[in-house]
Amino acid sequence: MDNKYTRVVIKISGEALAGENGFGLNNAVIAGVVEQIAKVRNMGIQIGIIIGGGNFWRGRQGADMDRTTADHMGMLATVINSLAMQDALEHAGVPTRVMTAIEMPRVAEPYILRRAIRHLEKGRVVIMACGTGNPYFSTDTGAALRAAEIQADERRKSAPTSFCAPKTSTAFTTAIRRKIPTPESTTKSDTLTSSRTVCRLWTRPRYLFVWKTISPS
Ligand code: UDP
Repeated sequence: MDNKYTRVVIKISGEALAGENGFGLNNAVIAGVVEQIAKVRNMGIQIGIIIGGGNFWRGRQGADMDRTTADHMGMLATVINSLAMQDALEHAGVPTRVMTAIEMPRVAEPYILRRAIRHLEKGRVVIMACGTGNPYFSTDTGAALRAAEIQADERRKSAPTSFCAPKTSTAFTTAIRRKIPTPESTTKSDTLTSSRTVCRLWTRPRYLFVWKTISPS
């Protein structure tokens, strides 16, 4: 199949993975996400995923805590989600690698740009955990950063903030329909993207960067 894009980065908020529970992990939601990712990956499109941690902990919840400590806890939450997504994807036959911005080699590979690109080229879904690896940031920033990093050189010049032109969820699903030619992969996406979904989409030739911030429905 002749795909318009070769590489996509998808940001999934931690909250989305909690489903109706509002906390922790919802297996049905994860299964839905896995199904979509597997379909897109089987089209030969390279996929990087950044997952948030809000279903467990966000740094700002630690009101009286040292902010850096609270943010470290948030980044660890993204690792929990990333490992859960890895496990679910691999059960579905999708090869993956989790790469962490904060090194924890007994758990996952450290994030190294060239290694990440190599995994993508080999058809592995790369799940990039810990956001940017720095406190005072969010995984949205991490998604923008990683999306910039895995582009071709001339595209790296764009500041991450320039990726953040907000689009509606309709724009997102329309774009997915138009640019990724599988109706099946959009059906589930529609289900996941409720009316409260905020999507940010930024496209470049051959590349599609998608931010999905999904509020619990
Ligand atoms: N976090 C951080 N630096 C990063 C990414 C995340 O400190 O680069 C921490 C921060 O505390 C954040 C938490 O991890 O609140 C979870 O990430 P985020 O809030 O982006 O998760 P989401 O809202 O997408 O579920």
